Amino acid sequence: MEITDLNIDGYESVKRCIDTQSGLHAIIAVHSTVLGPALGGMRLWHYESEKEAMFDVLRLAQGMTYKASCAGLALGGGKSVILGNPAKKTPELFRAMGSFVESFGGSYITAEDVNTKVEDMAEVNSRTKHCVGLAGKSGNPSPKTAWGCFVGLRAALEEVYGSDDLTGKVVALEGAGSVGAIYAKLMADRGAKIIAADIREESARAVAEECGGTIVSPNEIRSVDCDIYAPCALGGSVNKETIPGLKGKIVCGAANNQLLDADDGHALRERGILYAPDYVVNAGGLINVYNELVTEGYNEQVAMDMMEKIYTNLKEIFAIARDQGLCTSDAADRFGDLRINAALEAMQA
Ligand code: NAD
Repeated sequence: MEITDLNIDGYESVKRCIDTQSGLHAIIAVHSTVLGPALGGMRLWHYESEKEAMFDVLRLAQGMTYKASCAGLALGGGKSVILGNPAKKTPELFRAMGSFVESFGGSYITAEDVNTKVEDMAEVNSRTKHCVGLAGKSGNPSPKTAWGCFVGLRAALEEVYGSDDLTGKVVALEGAGSVGAIYAKLMADRGAKIIAADIREESARAVAEECGGTIVSPNEIRSVDCDIYAPCALGGSVNKETIPGLKGKIVCGAANNQLLDADDGHALRERGILYAPDYVVNAGGLINVYNELVTEGYNEQVAMDMMEKIYTNLKEIFAIARDQGLCTSDAADRFGDLRINAALEAMQA
């Protein structure tokens, strides 16, 4: 196993691991441990190149720093990506990944993410104790992430419509995976009409059946007539190309890094579309796994109660945006910076 330190500006530690025996090619990025150990999921994706994987892991790790800060958790931000074919994952791959995680000595704590499941985490856990979201503890974070999105959506609905009533609201759901499917059901159960799209058509179809909704192709979902666009696939779906076509008044979903670049937040504001910042809205899973680390031990009710903070945080962020004439993504960054800067000042005092 060959682990190489890559010096990346603005990040505490970024390392690459190549393990020929298991076929592992992975990167772990620790963005910040100012508020605590860097916790962030392990993503397995068929990246075209290491450059693409690096772009992803760096943005995701930084997003985790802000996610933890906004959620009020004693955690920093980090992330890991495995470059590989999700259809060919093996226990050996995850055991090697466990050793890579262990090499960070606890400054990075991992959990599941896209294409990694609770059973994969069990393999990771056989080589490192710095792993959360395990079976028998807080378990799969996806239902909690979905719940957190739904809690956040209430705040966005109130901001735009003056009420959180979902009756008759049309939701364009992009990505009918672990989080998207549950989020869709939560909305459908409260009267929303779901239009689902997924590159795996059968997943979109299953959600549509469960929710009494319809499906469209992934090419259509970003411009379909709707009230809410819910990005629950991968990042970057809100960008210069897609923003002009978005029909909804709200963007609120689980995907990390929904905006391709910072300007996209301004473009949404100019179009009068309320963006519920991704790292605030999708913190439910993080809040849940964080509760595995507290000395009292995991308590689901305590974790669920903490998720209400997503609603109050968004209210505060929307108010900052309104009062200071900012787009909500910038307002969220300022909100997240408050705790990080206070901790840095305390360290330097
Ligand atoms: P998942 O892999 O279970 O689901 C993602 C779905 O999106 C899959 O069904 C996939 O086929 C689909 N998809 C991929 N590209 C697509 C495209 N271009 N168009 C339409 N569909 C596409 O992943 P998940 O756990 O549900 O996570 C979804 C998103 O939420 C990810 O961005 C993830 O990082 C983020 N997130 C997840 C959690 C969690 O607890 N699982 C927590 C925070 C953030």
